Amino acid sequence: MSLARGYAVSLLGLAGNIIEVEADISSNLPAFILVGLPDASLSEASSRVRAAVQNSGLRLPARRITINLSPASIPKFGSSFDLAIAITLLAADGSVSPQLAADWVHIGELGLDGSIRAVRGILPAVLACRNAGRTRVVVPLANLSEAKLVSGLEIIGASHLNQVAVLHGADVANLARVPVDDAVAAEETISPYEGLDISDVLGQESAVQALTIAAAGGHHLSMIGPPGAGKTMLAERLPSLLPDLTLEQSLETTAIHSIAGRGHAVGVSGNLFVRPPFEAPHHSSSMVSLVGGGTGLPRPGAISLANYGVLFLDEAPEFQLPALEALRQPLESGEVLIHRSAGTARFPSHFQLVIAANPCPCGLSMSPKAQCLCSPHSRNRYAAKLSGPLLDRIDINLRIQAVSSIQKALFSASDKPVAETSAQVRERVTQARMAAAERLASTPWSLNAQVPGHYLRHRLKPASSITRQLDFALDKGRISMRGYDRVLRLAWTKADIDGKSSISSEAISFAMFLRGTELGVSVA
Ligand SMILES: [Zn+2]
Repeated sequence: MSLARGYAVSLLGLAGNIIEVEADISSNLPAFILVGLPDASLSEASSRVRAAVQNSGLRLPARRITINLSPASIPKFGSSFDLAIAITLLAADGSVSPQLAADWVHIGELGLDGSIRAVRGILPAVLACRNAGRTRVVVPLANLSEAKLVSGLEIIGASHLNQVAVLHGADVANLARVPVDDAVAAEETISPYEGLDISDVLGQESAVQALTIAAAGGHHLSMIGPPGAGKTMLAERLPSLLPDLTLEQSLETTAIHSIAGRGHAVGVSGNLFVRPPFEAPHHSSSMVSLVGGGTGLPRPGAISLANYGVLFLDEAPEFQLPALEALRQPLESGEVLIHRSAGTARFPSHFQLVIAANPCPCGLSMSPKAQCLCSPHSRNRYAAKLSGPLLDRIDINLRIQAVSSIQKALFSASDKPVAETSAQVRERVTQARMAAAERLASTPWSLNAQVPGHYLRHRLKPASSITRQLDFALDKGRISMRGYDRVLRLAWTKADIDGKSSISSEAISFAMFLRGTELGVSVA
């Protein structure tokens, strides 16, 4: 036999396609030719495969080898095709059974010694196998626990090419060695954000209430306050108020982390995300690490790693302007598109945005003790960084004052009722979300933050006696139409969290407080 077929998976974004690998051995002069739109790292496969096969004690014929990856139109990135190429080649040469080789999908990168190395994106790749009706997959042993998150398939983890060759009927006597593996324990790290509780926040009651509303309605949030006011402490605790992910959200989010090569990283419990992730990229982060991209297999950025969780931009005006502007489209559509000459990668990015900023570049303008020295020009420039389209998507604008250590001590010593824990707030948030989802059952939306203005003003129109204060502010030009809609949206979430079936004038007042003023812009 000099022609054989095998199968691999190519990924673009979260979408995977089964790729057919054909290996042909002809009697021409020795050569190793790879065709079918391979990228640079894939082209290097020929060297890796050749060395891996020979160092495993298997025979590579000294003839002309042609490997074709099809369909040629589907872009192929990375090194995860190595194993499929090697096995198909061995099948073409008759070292392993061609039937068995074609029966399994092979995913894995080869080391020069024949070892099989972990690859990124195993979860979406195995999902693609299942969707294509494939039932048997070989994956790198280091990726096995992640691959097994997908049920309904026979999945084998291997750490060396020889193990796979033996699986497909190779004669053991020919092999250099057949390594026996101890199962690799998945490294499981506890998220640094796990265990953070909202009850740790002392003396910031209105901020905690605002965070609760943000969690219940899915509202994006901005916090403006001096350094040390606890903005980061609050933001880090927002995920603890959100309900668990659904299975579908969990698979999608885990798949994104898998492609980023963070399969066992932050926030993964039992390897599947159960709790909403929290991502806090630094303001010096590159565009690629924020939005996604990079060379080779496109990587998801922080906005996708925060899928169904929280994206926190601390010191937001310090981010590069193009990076902030790149958030607009994902905020609108819940996904980010990464364009390549070979095709477009799509990554979901349903994140809840929390931005924090100092009141001015020096941070002292809200301080009662120190004097701000910023010029009006530098203040305006600072505020302008966050202007327009980004702030348009933010419903809650909070001003946060620093709480002194004396206030904190008084607060914890006082006989006030003990602050609610995150678990207690989460329970109320879950109830509120269910109420909203029920009200919006006949619409494409499920969270108040998603509901457009016209629907709020017409289909969910509150009585004019309730919106009197708001209508007055609109008439006097103290609030924009957009601001008006925002207040209605927040008032509905307030009603949901209070267990009310309609909004009241109190809910409107509270919503007007939450809407607050934007950085550098005074709106009543
Ligand atoms: Zn200042």
